Amino acid sequence: MGGPLDTVAGLARQLAAREVSSVEVTRAALDRIAALDHALNAFVNVDGDGALAAAAAADAARARGGAGPLAGVPIAHKDVLMTAGLPTTCASRMLATFVAPYDAHVVARLKDAGTVLVGKTNMDEFAMGSSNENSHFGAVRNPWQPACVPGGSSGGSAAAVAARLVPAATGTDTGGSIRQPASYTGVTGLKPTYGRCSRYGLVAFASSLDTPGVFARTAEDCALLLGAMAGPDARDSTSVDRPVDDYAGSLAARPADPSRPLAGLRVGLPAEFFGDGVDGEVARAVDAAVGELRRLGAQTVDVALPRVGLSVPVYYVIAPAEASSNLSRFDGVRYGHRAAEYRDLADMYRRTRAEGFGAEVRRRILIGTYVLSHGYYDAYYLKAQKVRRLIADDFRAAFGRCDVIAGPTAPTAAFRLGDKADDPVQMYLNDIFTIGANLAGLPAMSIPCGFTGDGRPIGLQLHAPAFAEARLLTVAHRFQQATDWHARAPALPPA
Ligand code: GLN
Repeated sequence: MGGPLDTVAGLARQLAAREVSSVEVTRAALDRIAALDHALNAFVNVDGDGALAAAAAADAARARGGAGPLAGVPIAHKDVLMTAGLPTTCASRMLATFVAPYDAHVVARLKDAGTVLVGKTNMDEFAMGSSNENSHFGAVRNPWQPACVPGGSSGGSAAAVAARLVPAATGTDTGGSIRQPASYTGVTGLKPTYGRCSRYGLVAFASSLDTPGVFARTAEDCALLLGAMAGPDARDSTSVDRPVDDYAGSLAARPADPSRPLAGLRVGLPAEFFGDGVDGEVARAVDAAVGELRRLGAQTVDVALPRVGLSVPVYYVIAPAEASSNLSRFDGVRYGHRAAEYRDLADMYRRTRAEGFGAEVRRRILIGTYVLSHGYYDAYYLKAQKVRRLIADDFRAAFGRCDVIAGPTAPTAAFRLGDKADDPVQMYLNDIFTIGANLAGLPAMSIPCGFTGDGRPIGLQLHAPAFAEARLLTVAHRFQQATDWHARAPALPPA
């Protein structure tokens, strides 16, 4: 593509060749945000001065010869990740004026790699939602169709990448919040293995599920960013001490037979991902994408995930349970909102939390408190934990017969704003295909694979065994070398 709207890999090449400077690219991103984001609402904060200073520093480092490949590439972070000295709001009134005292581990890693932070992206409050309608700062619009949602909870990051405001952005995925918005906005989204990227500095929603990851236009760009973000961190006890693969290098490796680059790959197709309940246009696009994988040399095998249908009820017990505990820290004492008037301490807690949290967050806290309470713990929380293990066992058994598992990312393409806002159960059912990877801790991606007749993007989801990100990214990359769905852009004014 060339120019400031290029991909991460393209910008890295242009920057290395000194065809553009980081200041020029960063200014172009800031100008585009200023021109377009009033209609999208993808950003909750833009740090123009900080971005230009970081860009100048990246240019200076490059002039000295001390710059890595990502130096000077502008990116955005989901506003659930702590960014030292900048507001970190989680799109909640509770944290509307909170300034983070330190960087999240993945933020620090990307900063060390020289990326330029242009701003923080909008999201569902505390990452609870599938439409980005649960934000204290208002809904985000889908760049392809402004009447539609961009998906959630990382809807701002997805919309920002889809609209070419930034070439890449971070997200977090607890139950699908990277993959589902990637699918709805026609971008590439990667949820790594649980433990691959540290959760330090990620404001906790459901700690056993929360996973930092990335949005970009291509699998190649996701590989570059994951390489910088991944790695052990002693400050997150679930971070895994295991060497980081050379993701970008594995994509660059030449296949033995270039006309069949996926020869030898076994793609598992679970009947549970291809049954009723999947919209017809989505099913057709995903079938065609599977056909493309076959043309590239892959062999398809039928596999079964018999208990994955239970993943929505299991998740909506476990995630709220963990959320109710994690969110108890917002008490009006240590940080965040505090009610202006109150009678005593208990009244201060009550009013602070009633004022600070939106409706969906309060609903989750109530459900979580209920399922953890004496008498219900065994019936709900403990039972859900047992079924969670069975779902993980299903994936393990399936991966005995295949190398990746394919299916749709979501049952439908992007829906209209307001369509599900009054029906939480309908909203929750939208996560049916994404939650399994979180419950089992597996890496998964969504890559663009088509459009509905009226122009809404459709995503193909790929799962891989734990720590097989290089395999996942390679399959996605081969697909993208043979197709151009990921290269299509929504009709927005040129920068
Ligand atoms: N949509 C799911 C929820 O509302 C997932 C959110 C996420 O992955 N953060 O909880």
